[in-house]
Amino acid sequence: MGWFEIGLLGMLAGVVGTGTGGLLSIFVKKPTPRLTGTILAFAAGIMLAIVFLELIEESIDFSGYRAAIAGLSMGMLVLYILDQLLPHHHTVTAEAVHQGRYLKKGTMLALGIGLHNFPEGLAIGTGFIGSTELGTTLAILIALHNIPEGMAVAAPLRHGGYKFQRIVSITTLTGVPMGLGAFVGALIGSISPLVLGISLAFAAGAMLYIVCDELIPDAYESAGAHLSILGIFLGTVVGLLFIAWI
Ligand SMILES: [Zn+2]
Repeated sequence: MGWFEIGLLGMLAGVVGTGTGGLLSIFVKKPTPRLTGTILAFAAGIMLAIVFLELIEESIDFSGYRAAIAGLSMGMLVLYILDQLLPHHHTVTAEAVHQGRYLKKGTMLALGIGLHNFPEGLAIGTGFIGSTELGTTLAILIALHNIPEGMAVAAPLRHGGYKFQRIVSITTLTGVPMGLGAFVGALIGSISPLVLGISLAFAAGAMLYIVCDELIPDAYESAGAHLSILGIFLGTVVGLLFIAWI
């Protein structure tokens, strides 16, 4: 498979997932922060399953433990540096609901999810260079994880009174950076098996950083500890089942 085709597949996984999340938001009249937080925690659980059961494991297979640890460290370090440079974004909180600041929250969240879709695209792109099977598994799992993220982006926009078509367009657009990530991942992953292994672990490090820095704290802030843990648990189980089935 060529780099452009992989990029297109990555973009498809991105927009179909977040767009579906936006579409599904039509069924939830007034999404509460508790629901949005639990949904984000579910997305985090799926991501944890991908990081540990797919990306790190495959990275060790391709290039061994040392390269996997090196890639993981680089992924976390690069995200830490980006975290210092880029402004923060958080999901809709009880406090924001009180102050009616939905739209600002919604836009920031859309921007944040859009940016965070780049490393997920990287994972899909490097995955397809590893094998079509690995790439397909990652694309399906990440698309699945994008559905709750799309719903979380849609929630504050709904509260803010955005029209339905506009919500679906915005949530769909947040999936686009995943295509660019997949293209870049395929390009870098093609260099050599060692670089491929390091890239898979890099994507794992970047995604782990996002889970710890955005998804889980945002979930706790919105839904509290217990609902968040329930969401993480359910997401991990669903991720595990998918990995076993595909
Ligand atoms: Zn994501």
